[in-house]
Amino acid sequence: MKTYVVGGAVRDELLGLPVQDRDHVVVGATPEEMVDIGYKPVGQDFPVFLHPQTREEYALARTERKSGRGYKGFTVFASPEVTLEEDLRRRDLTINAMARDESGNLIDPYNGQRDLEAKVLRHVSEAFAEDPVRILRVARFAARFADFNIAPETMELMRGMVNAGEVDELVPERVWQEISRGLMEKRPSRMFLVLRECGALKKLLPEVDKLFGVPQPPEYHPEIDTGLHVMLVLDWAAQQLFSLPVRFAALTHDLGKGATPQELWPKHIGHEAKSVELVRMLSERIRVPADCRDLAIAVARDHGNVHRALELRSGTVVELFERVDAFRRPERFMEFLRACECDFHGRPGYESRPFPEINYLQQALALAQGVDAGEVAKRVDPARIKEAVFQARAEAIAAWRQREG
Ligand code: ATP
Ligand code: MG
Repeated sequence: MKTYVVGGAVRDELLGLPVQDRDHVVVGATPEEMVDIGYKPVGQDFPVFLHPQTREEYALARTERKSGRGYKGFTVFASPEVTLEEDLRRRDLTINAMARDESGNLIDPYNGQRDLEAKVLRHVSEAFAEDPVRILRVARFAARFADFNIAPETMELMRGMVNAGEVDELVPERVWQEISRGLMEKRPSRMFLVLRECGALKKLLPEVDKLFGVPQPPEYHPEIDTGLHVMLVLDWAAQQLFSLPVRFAALTHDLGKGATPQELWPKHIGHEAKSVELVRMLSERIRVPADCRDLAIAVARDHGNVHRALELRSGTVVELFERVDAFRRPERFMEFLRACECDFHGRPGYESRPFPEINYLQQALALAQGVDAGEVAKRVDPARIKEAVFQARAEAIAAWRQREG
C-alpha cells in the first residue's frame, strides 16, 4: 500500500501558497485493510477514510465512468489494482492532477507543473466532459488565479458541454455552492466572464447574462455597459474583502436594468423594483440563503436612495432606515451601505472618488438611534407613539443638518 498527497495541496505548495487541507490517495489497499489499520470510513459514494490521528482524508484510488445524466450519474470503481495515474486522470485540471509520494517526489503524468508555470487551466482528459460541475470549478479557479488563462481546447470543450445541455442537469444547491465560493475569490468577475464565454451563464444566471450589452447613461457610468459595471462593482467588493452577502448584493443590485425595454435605453427608470423581483426569483431558483437574499433585496430596492442620500428629506431618511431594519440590525445596515459603496466605486475613474453619502447616513442613523423612544412614549397618546418616535428621529436629523449647513 502506498499513499500520496494529491490535488490542491500539491498545486498550492508549488505555487508557494499556504496549504488548506491535504487530500491523499491510497494505492494498493482494500477498504477492509484501511479499517484494520485504524482508518475511519466516511465516504458514502466512494471509499474515503479519515486518518486516525491527523483526520486528513485518504481516498482509495478510483476511476469513474459516466453512467447517466447529471453529476450523480457515475459508476465508481475502486480496487487495489487502480493505479495512481488512473486516479489522477479522472481529475478536472492538470494543475489539480499532480501527486507527491511519501519521499517527496512529484508525480505529474499530465504536465500540471508545466501548466502551472505557463499559468494555464487545462482539462486533464476528455472525461472532463462527463461532469458539468467542472465548468463551475474552472470558472471559480479563474477567479482565484486571476492571471491564469483557460486553454482554448478546454474552453471549446466547455462550450460543447453547454450546447449538449449538460449544465441543465446541475442541481441548484451545487450551483450556489460553486457561485458563492467563486464570489469569495480574489477576482470574482472572472468566474462570470468565463461562464459567459462558454455559454453557461445564460443557462445558470440568465438575469446576469442579460446585463451585458445593456447601456447606461455615460454621465454616471463611464463604462456604459451594465454587465461591465456589475463586474467592476464585484471586483471592488472583493478588493475590500467584503462579505459574501455584500458580494451577492453587488452582483444583483442592477438586475432590473436587463429588463428595460430597448427603446428606453440608456435610462432605467424604476429598475430598482424590477431588480427586487429578479433577485427574489434568482434566489429562489438556486436556493440562495436568506442572509444573502435579504441583503440583496434591500440593496436592489434602495441603492438609488443611498446615492441620493444628501438630497433626501430627513423623514425619507428615517423611512429608509426602517425599510432596511437599521434600528434593530445596525450591523446589517453597514453591510447594506458597503454594497452601495461598491456600486459607486465600480465605475472607471470612481475607484477612489469620495462617496460622502455613506458617512452621512451613518451619522444620521446614530442621531436617530439617539432618540429616547421611551421618553417620547411617555409624552404622547399611546396610539401616536410610533408616529411621534418617527417624528423625533426625523427632527434629530433635520436639526443636525441645519447646524452643519
Ligand atoms: P480548493 O483549494 O478549493 O480546496 P482543490 O483543488 O483542493 O481546491 P477540492 O474541491 O478540495 O479542490 O478537490 C480536491 C481535488 O479533487 C481537486 O484538486 C481535483 O483533483 C479533484 N476534484 C474535485 N472535484 C472534482 C470534479 N468535480 N471533477 C474532477 N476532479 C475533481
Ligand atoms: Mg481542497
